[in-house]
Amino acid sequence: MTAALMTCKKDFPILQRQVHGKPLVYLDSAATSQKPVQVLEALRQYYEHSNANVHRSVHTLAEEATALYEGARQKVARFIGASQPEEVVFTRGTTEALNFVARGWAEKHLKAGDEVVTSPMEHHSNLIPWQVVCRRTGARLRFIELNPDGTLNLEQAGEVIGPRTRLVALSALSNVLGTINPIAEVARMAHAVGAVMVVDGAQSVPHQLTRVMEMGADFLAFSGHKMCGPTGIGVLWGKMERLEEMDPILYGGEMIAYVSRDTATWAAVPAKFEGGTPHIAGAIGLGAAVEYLSAIGMEAIWEHDRYLGELAWRRLAEIPGVAVYGPSAPRSGLVAFNIEGVHPHDVAQVFDSQGVAIRAGHHCCQPLMQWLEVGATARASFYLYNDESDIDRLVEAIEATKRYFQP
Ligand code: PLP
Repeated sequence: MTAALMTCKKDFPILQRQVHGKPLVYLDSAATSQKPVQVLEALRQYYEHSNANVHRSVHTLAEEATALYEGARQKVARFIGASQPEEVVFTRGTTEALNFVARGWAEKHLKAGDEVVTSPMEHHSNLIPWQVVCRRTGARLRFIELNPDGTLNLEQAGEVIGPRTRLVALSALSNVLGTINPIAEVARMAHAVGAVMVVDGAQSVPHQLTRVMEMGADFLAFSGHKMCGPTGIGVLWGKMERLEEMDPILYGGEMIAYVSRDTATWAAVPAKFEGGTPHIAGAIGLGAAVEYLSAIGMEAIWEHDRYLGELAWRRLAEIPGVAVYGPSAPRSGLVAFNIEGVHPHDVAQVFDSQGVAIRAGHHCCQPLMQWLEVGATARASFYLYNDESDIDRLVEAIEATKRYFQP
């Protein structure tokens, strides 16, 4: 572990909290991450010194706010290796970004007989928009099946991605299985048949160094709140060409070039997609978050999170009566599990009494739960502020749960 990683926990004031009289162990970063003082301070600074609307007035505060907002766009563009800041569209989050692509690009370009390809491990926000697009256009939704260990079946992917495929939508990291999907490889298959590659980066961008060009994505969606940034802000990155051929979703202020009584023309990308007053503070906070993560180093964070994910998987797999899901390694920094005979919600409740915060449920992945043949799972997810001692507390909480339910 690097020195920066070893000392970063002190940047997160919430992690000093006690829960039920025990020191908090936060293992729910895949749902939302905690926020460092650097991000909290950027938000405070903005509201205390420069709060104004952006791209409208010419007074000093408005110009400062606009510079901060556009500065955040540049920081995010650099963070993901975009070729220009204008390719970064601020949205409310991954869900909104994927819906924008579905409504603004796919509904416009797809027709009956076309095919959209996705996988059964997708979060509902990378599944339902495509279901709806297919219903509206007459296109067909197809799936890349999973191997028994929860990795993608690439051989079958080569069969399902074919001449009718117009769009492939895949998450880079699964939020349940911890699977690391070979995005660049699937993108090559998609591009070979002329299809567009949409990547759900909600779980990958916070943890992995992201280089959109190498990834081969046409669109990438992610959320600020899972990467140390505020809630309510996220990003749709798209290749300029794709964004230009995509229709806006929100019509109104600031997304226009010219309006007459009867008609209107659209502003250039990205303003075309940012109708209405944007989440200015959120974007500035996200800019601070990506600076914070970059200073620690995304390669180091990825190595650290993967190490914790693989260690937790192995330690939990050794405990009698505990089932773990997804590949053993390589895997990302989370582990979904069940304790025999105990409902995951009860598991999460006992954990909470121990000060250990995890998530339980279907994780917005009901088709994946059907594939796993379980109703729900518990899930512990790690981030830069976690360490091996948190896995010890996780294992202790499992033992406590077993004692409670299986005396
Ligand atoms: N995709 C994946 C893989 C996720 O894990 C999540 C959130 O958990 C989302 C999409 C949706 O993100 P948001 O709720 O921030 O829009």
